[in-house]
Amino acid sequence: MKEEGVELIREGKRLDGRGFDELRPIKIEVGVLKRADGSCYFELGDNKVIAAVYGPREMHPRHAQDAKMAVLKYRYNMAPFSVEDRKRPGPDRRSVEISKISREALEPVILKEYYPKTEIDVYVEILQSDAGTRTAGINAASVALADAGIPMRDLVSSVAVGKIDGEVVLDLNAVEDNNGEADMPIAMIVRRNIITALQMDGRMTREEFEKGLKLAMNACRQIYELQRTALIERYSEL
Ligand code: UDP
Repeated sequence: MKEEGVELIREGKRLDGRGFDELRPIKIEVGVLKRADGSCYFELGDNKVIAAVYGPREMHPRHAQDAKMAVLKYRYNMAPFSVEDRKRPGPDRRSVEISKISREALEPVILKEYYPKTEIDVYVEILQSDAGTRTAGINAASVALADAGIPMRDLVSSVAVGKIDGEVVLDLNAVEDNNGEADMPIAMIVRRNIITALQMDGRMTREEFEKGLKLAMNACRQIYELQRTALIERYSEL
């Protein structure tokens, strides 16, 4: 809900100085955790996220195994100190929903059939949040899966677009998300132009939706290049 008198756009710029089609600064670090098989630290503006991947490892309990392929698990978790008002620790409806859509966003690129009867565990921890944490989590998880050596068709890249003060803009921060008219996170396999997740909170017209989709797809291309570069840098050092 928009607070009374909050103005999100002034003289064609957003409150943080960005243009409508600008991403927040992104920082990616690969292999930051010693004990995980793969890991990634991802910053998107004031969002700070860590993804850790374990597996493929034998799945327990055995009755939950899939004889034909690996089972992908994804846990999105917000640290109590990651938000303005302390968040009550533990799962809630929001984190269950985000875990599900994030897993579904990544599943199409993972060659699960290579590892029957196993599980691949993805843990995403939100250390600091400023809207867009699910997209930052998917980006981090995608890189961490590659770092763990999980066979993948490609990476998945993710960003949100939305509508604030009647304008379609890229990558909303928390003030924009809270006071805006719509928020639409998407995830995609950039090189194949395949969208693997799309959610919509709020309302946009068809034209706004199409404009937003174009903005998001362009931004995913930029994020994809950063993800690739981070992985190449990590492994060319060795
Ligand atoms: N948020 C919060 N407390 C919560 C959930 C969310 O303060 O329990 C804030 C947090 O900054 C988050 C933002 O609201 O990044 C937007 O949340 P949303 O559910 O839209 O998910 P996100 O945009 O982070 O994927």
